[in-house]
Formats: sequence, C-alpha cells, structure tokens
Amino acid sequence: MPNLTKPNHGNMSVSDCKSSSYGTKTDARDVVSLVDDLLKKAVESDASDVHFEPTGSELVVKFRLDGALNTVEKLPKSLSGNVIARLKVLGGLLTYRNDIPQEGRIEVSKTQNDRVMDQRLAVFPTIHGQRAVVRLFYKNRELMELGQLGFSNDIYTALKKIAAKNQGVLLLTGPAGSGKSTTLAALLRHILKGFSGKSIVTLEDPVEIRIEGITQTQITPHGQMTFPTALRSLLRQDPQILMIGEIRDAETAKIAIEAGLTGHLLMSTMHSGTPAGALLRLLEMGIEPYQVTSSVSAVLNQRLIRKLCKKCRRKIDKTGLFEAVGCDDCFNTGFKGRVLIAEMVQLDGHLRKAILAKSDLDQLEAILKSKGHTNMLEDGKRLVSEGITTQDELNKVCGIISDDPSASGEML
Ligand SMILES: [Zn+2]
Repeated sequence: MPNLTKPNHGNMSVSDCKSSSYGTKTDARDVVSLVDDLLKKAVESDASDVHFEPTGSELVVKFRLDGALNTVEKLPKSLSGNVIARLKVLGGLLTYRNDIPQEGRIEVSKTQNDRVMDQRLAVFPTIHGQRAVVRLFYKNRELMELGQLGFSNDIYTALKKIAAKNQGVLLLTGPAGSGKSTTLAALLRHILKGFSGKSIVTLEDPVEIRIEGITQTQITPHGQMTFPTALRSLLRQDPQILMIGEIRDAETAKIAIEAGLTGHLLMSTMHSGTPAGALLRLLEMGIEPYQVTSSVSAVLNQRLIRKLCKKCRRKIDKTGLFEAVGCDDCFNTGFKGRVLIAEMVQLDGHLRKAILAKSDLDQLEAILKSKGHTNMLEDGKRLVSEGITTQDELNKVCGIISDDPSASGEML
C-alpha cells in the first residue's frame, strides 16, 4: 500500500509523486479500500476537493489544498474504470451510464471522522474515460471572527460600520473559492453577537456554514424555492438583516435592491472581477442608476492568498523578504493556510454622480484611481512585506503573469 493512511503528508508531494504500486491484479475489494483510503487521506490533509482525472495512460488523483491542486497518486489506467465505478456506487449514481454527467452525494463514512459535513460527487465523460470530482464540506471549518480574516484596518473598520446599519446593500465579489461565504458568515456572526435582537435570515445555495441563532434556508435550484420566490416571501417574515447567497438574475437583483431601500440591511455576492464592474452589472440587470446609488453602501472584492509555511519559509538576504521552500508539514508546497486580500469601494458623492451619469467602467476606474483607491494588489503588498506570502503568489492571485517559471502552479 502507498502511504495513504499515514497521518502526515510525507510522501505525497507534487515533486516526488510516483506512480502507484497498485498493480493490474487489484481486485474489487482493493478498489473499495483504495477509494476509502483516498477520501480519508483527503480529509486528513484538509483538502477541499479530490480530483480523479483519467489520462491516456493513468488515473491521476489530485487534492486541492489551500486552493492549489496537488497530484497525490497516479493509478494504473487499468484501475480507472473500477475506481470511478466505486465512486459512483458511493454517490448513488447510475454505474452503467458512462456517457452523461452525473451528480450525487457520498455518505460520510465513520472512518473519515466527524469533521466532514457533506461530500458531493460529480462525474463527467472525457475522451479518456470518466473524470470525477469529490467536493468536501467541513463542519465549523470557517467559523472565524471578522477581525481574524486578514482585512486591512481600513476595510475592517468600514465593514463594522456597515454591519451596524439598518439598511443598505453590501455586495461581495470575487470568483468561486475566494472566501466570500466565510466573510459573509463572519459578518453575520458579528451582527448576531453585537446587535442581539436583530432578526437575521439567509437564502443560500447551498448552506455552506451553519450559524446557530440565525434562520438559514437552502434554495433548490430546480425546485419551486428559487431565489426570487423565496426572497419575496422572506420579506414578509419581518427580517432586518438579509443574506442572499448570490445575485444571479435580474429578478433577484431587483428585489434585493428594493429590500435594501426599505429598511433592511442586505448582503450578497455577485460575479464580477472588480467593484466597479459589480455596480455596472446591477445597471445591466435593469436596476435604475438612482436605485443603485441610494441602496448600495459598498462593494468588497476579495481573494484568498496562500500563506507561506512558517516552518520552512526562507528569508532572501538580498530583499529581506521570504520565499517558499517546502517541508513535510506543508505537503512540500511551501505554503500552509490562506488569508484574504481585498479592496473595498464605498459609494460617495463623486461615484454616485458618475453612476447617475451612466459612466462606463473606464470612467469609474479613473475616479477610483484619482481618489487613491487601494486595489487588491496594493493591499497584498503588506502581506509580502510581513513575510506572510510571496510577491509571486500575490501576482498569481491578482492575475498578473509572472515570468518566473517556479511561480507557476495549478491554481484555479
Ligand atoms: Zn513547510
């Protein structure tokens, strides 16, 4: 057996990953324990996802650790079909259908300990056979205080001010996996603690972080409980603080903005690369400029950035900054844990005027620049200078291409 059940990450690093010792004679029972071992190991490593990727010659198993994919096992191609079939059995999928994408849920086994809340399986046909991804959801994983998330003092103070308001809209932007749910949960917990007696309700798809003391409802994407229908009913439940998982459509946007204008503090997320982009997106969804300017308090754009492993990081003499090295403790990646970088745009008179004048993205960006807005790259520099992360990591997270080949990785 390879080192799957070993508690530390010892031999499962990117650099020294070898092909598996699993032979071609592996029987069905071995495949069962192989899959169990991999899922167990994923939880021990704090992986958020496990990828099973068929290639022409192998089945490559990767763990997503702190946002980056790491190859942990290369299984012989002959096992590929059986491993995927086993996953499909666990996920309650149709094992005889290999030609369609399928999604299911894997029962959490006792061996995975009680940290896992949910496991979701998705399989997808490829030219080399089926590919599978298991997404792991952990209990209480991100129960962090607002002040512990890594925001700069300015943003932390601004967020606390917004959380104390009785109306308005706070929008969070950033791609999937940028910690938006964690920030929202921390904000809700902050309100719950500091302003007891306020009625707090959420609509989420799915509920990722459970918080004792607030009403959380899960949206069913294909059912009758959609964001707009649920939101409309929820407004009749006398809520004061509303959190909507995501504003995806014009109808939700319209109700959300109206809620923010009528005595509710509403928080939600939107897909947009920049804060100014999120404001314009609302206009594209048919929200009137005056509604945007009178409801939206601020837009927070955030990303998660990997922290250097404290055990192995190395000081570069020339610059006094630190670089990644890699040790057993950090899966040989040189990084361990993540922290937020962010930029926040609060609507002031200048920006409101520009939105009412239907300014485009370039014009809004120019206004922000003239006001000395701190963007994410600039925000991240404090983490680089403190040795918490590296410049390469910051460039990568901010989408700046580095010409240093050692900085490339499999970040999504
Ligand atoms: Zn390390």
